[in-house]
Amino acid sequence: MRKLAPVARAAEAAGYITLHDPGLLDRAKLRSLHAPSYVRAFITGKGRLVDSQGWEWTPQIRNGVLAINAGQIEAAKLAFEHGIAANVGQGFHHARPEHGAGYCTFNGLALVAQEFPEKRVFVLDCDEHCGDGTAFFTKKLPNLFNYSINGTNWGMQQNERSVCRHIKKAPDSFDHYKRALLEGFAKSQEWKADLIIYQAGVDSHEDDSMGSGILSTEQLLERDRMVFAHFHQCGTPLFFVLAGGYQTPIEEKLLPLHLNTFRAAFNEYYSPR
Ligand SMILES: [Zn+2]
Repeated sequence: MRKLAPVARAAEAAGYITLHDPGLLDRAKLRSLHAPSYVRAFITGKGRLVDSQGWEWTPQIRNGVLAINAGQIEAAKLAFEHGIAANVGQGFHHARPEHGAGYCTFNGLALVAQEFPEKRVFVLDCDEHCGDGTAFFTKKLPNLFNYSINGTNWGMQQNERSVCRHIKKAPDSFDHYKRALLEGFAKSQEWKADLIIYQAGVDSHEDDSMGSGILSTEQLLERDRMVFAHFHQCGTPLFFVLAGGYQTPIEEKLLPLHLNTFRAAFNEYYSPR
């Protein structure tokens, strides 16, 4: 989470974004999404499940998580209004209904589907790791679709509204990746998605120690360009979240990769043609 403030500041300084403060999420929304005993533990800082996501609990971490999740709802509203928006946060795609997992506390992707039950929410999850937590929520929320493209073949949960595509590291990885992206675009259209949440993870980058290193900087940028160009042309509202990316030092290694996503979105939606 330490990367979020530097990325927000850099994207604002570059003129790509106007920042909105979403405040803290109304906790009642979490109690209908996750098991109430888990929500209570994380809010109060007491109980067995308090650090189930893998962090040591602090009030600052709790408030950060509540702000990020409030940002999900705010970003969805802005996307409906403007066609494009971002939440400078994570989607928390490993979080399950009963507990956190893999540094993910409350599932902000499922939260959007719960908040807008009349909208069909399609998650295009391009994090290096698959959205296994989101897959559990597709069983609970009929208006949620999870489409994951992953370099790490772990924890894939598939059902009729959760599809995973594993891309192996090979010289032609990016060709397979692009094919999987096009399949995702087609699925979102077939399913008549009203909103796309793009998990623009950069942990598939070749220098990231948490992934399989299937994509270069240029390929990540090309992926972002393809996503924004497609959904802009379709007119389907989209917001993106940063998702994974773990290189350090943040300013030098990670920030430029996340900033590329903002640049690609800005160029697609706001540059004169
Ligand atoms: Zn990841």
